[in-house]
Amino acid sequence: MRTSVIGYPRIGALRELKFATEKYFRKEITEAELLATAKNLRRAHWEKQAASAIDFIPSNDFSFYDAMLDTALLLNVVPARYRAAGLSPLDTLFALARGYQGERGDVKALSMKKWFNTNYHYLVPEIEDDAEIKIAARKPFDEFAEARALGIATKPVLPGPFTFLKLARFIGKKTAADFVSAICAAYENIFAEFAGLGAEWIQLDEPSLVTDLAPEEISRFKEIYTRILAKKSGLKILLQTYFGDVRDCAGDILALPFDGVGIDFVEGKLSLDLFAKKPFPQDKILFAGLVNGKNIHRNDYGKTLSIFRELKATGAQIVVSTSCSLLHVPYTLANETKLPEDTKKHLAFAEEKLGELAELKRILAADLPEETREFKANAALISETGARADKAVRERAAKLRESDFVRLPAFAEREKIQHERFGLPLLPTTTIGSFPQTRDVREARSRARKNEISQEEYKNFLRGKIERCVRFQEKIGLDVLVHGEYERNDMVEYFGECLDGYIFTEKGWVQSYGTRCVKPPIVHGDVSRKKPMTVEWSAFAQSLTSKPMKGMLTGPITILNWSFPREDISLKESATQIALAIRDEVLDLEKAGIKIIQIDEAALREKLPLRKADWHKEYLDWAIPAFRLTHSGVAPQTQIHTHMCYSEFADIIREIDAMDADVITFEAARSDLSLLAVLNANHFRTEVGPGVYDIHSPRVPAVEEIKAALRKMLAQIPQEKLWVNPDCGLKTRGEPETESSLENLVAAARAIRDEIC
Ligand code: GLN
Ligand code: ZN
Repeated sequence: MRTSVIGYPRIGALRELKFATEKYFRKEITEAELLATAKNLRRAHWEKQAASAIDFIPSNDFSFYDAMLDTALLLNVVPARYRAAGLSPLDTLFALARGYQGERGDVKALSMKKWFNTNYHYLVPEIEDDAEIKIAARKPFDEFAEARALGIATKPVLPGPFTFLKLARFIGKKTAADFVSAICAAYENIFAEFAGLGAEWIQLDEPSLVTDLAPEEISRFKEIYTRILAKKSGLKILLQTYFGDVRDCAGDILALPFDGVGIDFVEGKLSLDLFAKKPFPQDKILFAGLVNGKNIHRNDYGKTLSIFRELKATGAQIVVSTSCSLLHVPYTLANETKLPEDTKKHLAFAEEKLGELAELKRILAADLPEETREFKANAALISETGARADKAVRERAAKLRESDFVRLPAFAEREKIQHERFGLPLLPTTTIGSFPQTRDVREARSRARKNEISQEEYKNFLRGKIERCVRFQEKIGLDVLVHGEYERNDMVEYFGECLDGYIFTEKGWVQSYGTRCVKPPIVHGDVSRKKPMTVEWSAFAQSLTSKPMKGMLTGPITILNWSFPREDISLKESATQIALAIRDEVLDLEKAGIKIIQIDEAALREKLPLRKADWHKEYLDWAIPAFRLTHSGVAPQTQIHTHMCYSEFADIIREIDAMDADVITFEAARSDLSLLAVLNANHFRTEVGPGVYDIHSPRVPAVEEIKAALRKMLAQIPQEKLWVNPDCGLKTRGEPETESSLENLVAAARAIRDEIC
């Protein structure tokens, strides 16, 4: 029995790499100092894994920014605009990642995309027609040699050629097919180099194989690997997949002469059906992903053992592995000082997962696995999980009926009632919720946390901010106001802290992109609302003005998608519990006199399954009803808004309409407004506020520019359904540009109203 790790986090247990890199950006440390920090981290990570007797320890999983970017540099896929800047290799890497503005010119960064169904983002390589794919860097080889110098034999890891080409953007006339030959030759050379360095295995990551593939893509996959597996220079090749199952090409994978095949048995719904039902080819090793690389709960050894036995019965030689790179979980529980031991023992971050692999190695090699000490201790632990049930929550969820998910009367009737109630002008103006979180706001919050100011002082400070914000909105003439969200650090953490069933870490950081990390809260038990979460602030803000004040909440799906979810109950059950908690808040806001309530679903799209066939059954069929449950109890005259931070929902347009909100605002300024035609064609009934300007940049949009956007919108959207608002919340912006931008927004809306009437 051997064990394998697909990849290890690299940002540092205390985010050392983040801080060093940011210092380097600010020119506070030299390149040599940054390189030294990186080297120390790599060493610590390898040694940790070696100490857990991991047999297949990855190298080249380190990155200063992103592995796809590193691979683009390795393969000489660098757009001409960066080559021209004449920067050092490290600065070229950072310029590709973040753009460059300086004495050597002004170059735009590569675009960044979500890495499959995770919250990690990769940089999209740009392949220009004249790209000459060949080995152009030494990173993977140097890191392999670096580990070996420490006495640690590693398995180098690289994104595979198929996934690389599939995720790349082709800038000119050429397409993936035009680069197959060149990329095959490059990988063959990489094999030869590693063989020369004395490597035994290489891991090629091909997560694209778990997505829906067209027949010509499967052919390309086969073509590439038929070629390169014929020239592997004596190296053993591990094809590593993760984040799902390989249902489109399982047979092809087994037929190709791979030496190892890595399959995800945690997230791969069909993986067992695909690989446990027939004899496994004797020429390969099965790397079975059994330790969850994406979530942070302890492994259930009983479950793992039963899958292992099923796989063993196929005759396969098995290596037990993580289900994906551990990049997606925090480092260690060792630095958590506030979590009770009783809670901690149910969790496993990256380091603790190494411990699980080590224990599984002993258990699975034993003659009587169930009799081992490790197995028994784990069984006892897992059986305790049930204690986290909250009877009242369970009963409440069990009593829900179909009708609890349906708001009455139907949309059209509500729309009439609400138009009469609010008497808003055509093209009503509003914002998405937050106002600039300036330094004074962050300082006051931090001082309140450290008890340097009293809660009352902090609240007074917030009341002052809210009052200023309300006066400003009134002064410039916005129609529907917000309180500014000054009390919130983050749209999920704030609510998580107010909910029972949630826990928080101090150092549980996970890399999102580059030096940016997030600290997702953990759903640990049944969720319910301890006390009203936002009512005090919204009611105070409403008391200052006669204009409608929007209540501001985060929706259940976004809260769940940005947390580490439970594994002992379904996502649907968790979503329902969170929805009930938000529902309580919605009803309390309504009772407190709030007439418009916005329930943000910024992350609704993020956990859409990778395969279209799974979209409804596995996600939308419970996610959309969970949202409806939050607002189905309000009176017809109460207006429900929702907000999404993107505009790619052409493919789920019906489901978005079925959320049955009264108004939806979404990102539109950066996209080409192409969604508008789709809304029109689908007779989208929800009123819409496509963002009229991009809040991600400090640029102030001119009145004429906003007017032009509104005219385009009016060509597709009935005037009585159109709202006017920015793209997203304003919390990352400064005050001066926010004020000018909003003044222009109101001026533009007024001008267009005059044109219409
Ligand atoms: N209401 C939130 C805000 O304005 C929405 C944030 C978001 O969509 N990410 O900040
Ligand atoms: Zn947003």
